[in-house]
Amino acid sequence: MEILVCVKRVPDTAENEIEVNKDGSDIERDDLVYSINEWDNYAVEEAIQIRDKVGGSVTVVSVGGEEAEEIIRREMAMGADKGVHLSDQAFEESDGKGLVRILQAAIEKGSYDLILTGVQADDGAGQVGGMLAAMLDWPFASLVNHIEVINDRTIKVGREIAAGNQEMNEIDLPCVLSIQTGINEPRYVGIRGIRKVASVEIPVFGASDIGLSPDLVGKSGATISRVDYFVPDLGEGAEILEGDTGEILEKLIEILQSKGGIK
Ligand SMILES: Cc1cc2nc3c(=O)[nH]c(=O)nc-3n(C[C@H](O)[C@H](O)[C@H](O)COP(=O)(O)OP(=O)(O)OC[C@H]3O[C@@H](n4cnc5c(N)ncnc54)[C@H](O)[C@@H]3O)c2cc1C
Repeated sequence: MEILVCVKRVPDTAENEIEVNKDGSDIERDDLVYSINEWDNYAVEEAIQIRDKVGGSVTVVSVGGEEAEEIIRREMAMGADKGVHLSDQAFEESDGKGLVRILQAAIEKGSYDLILTGVQADDGAGQVGGMLAAMLDWPFASLVNHIEVINDRTIKVGREIAAGNQEMNEIDLPCVLSIQTGINEPRYVGIRGIRKVASVEIPVFGASDIGLSPDLVGKSGATISRVDYFVPDLGEGAEILEGDTGEILEKLIEILQSKGGIK
């Protein structure tokens, strides 16, 4: 099975304090530590496990500046067979649809049975997987937390639904799935794996290489414009508990007891 996994380089929320920048147009990006989007790491692990069971290959693709290469290489060190880097000045400032157009053009140049995305990334729109499926006219399942290959035309997918319930579906290939956290335990990427792929050439494709008109992407292709970006004021009644973890827990228990939440 030929599997493509879409991966995004995002600020690592465990390593950074995220703040809005001075003009309120974006977050403050100086000195941020970046890593692979958590959901995408699960998707790559799942793709590797499927390939190891049924054969085929795993390709990781990322749209972004030259820094995106570092996460493509990391996922190859994890076990993906190939990497594709989509990078062009024309891609900058693309909205979600622009980003999907870039991925779609690259996908249509290749031949894939299964496309995996994360459920969401740092911009949190959760739009890429579904929109990509719609634009490719392929079936789509979201919030996938289980995949079984039935044969080379059909797979079975489990989806997390409300109240902790689970739904199972059969879905025809080729299809797009957005992968939910917890589907697997991603493997550790060791130094040996990193060394193995350190000098592998990762092809970089721009708009003309994938037959995409630059007008359809970037600022000129965007149909959504961000008009503001801010931290909302705290609502009345919100209380930030302060102190060390023990003190915070003590205060929390007191509050819950006073409101009848626990006895
Ligand atoms: C007007 C406007 C201007 C913007 N300008 C910029 C800009 O200049 N620079 C910028 O970085 N962003 C910009 N963005 C944000 C950009 O459009 C989003 O990053 C993009 O739509 C993905 O959104 P998301 O993070 O919400 O992804 P989601 O839809 O939440 O992500 C779901 C999955 O899609 C896949 N995916 C997401 N992004 C990528 C990627 N880059 N490569 C491969 N796979 C991916 C991953 O599998 C991910 O898990 C802009 C948005 C708007 C509306």
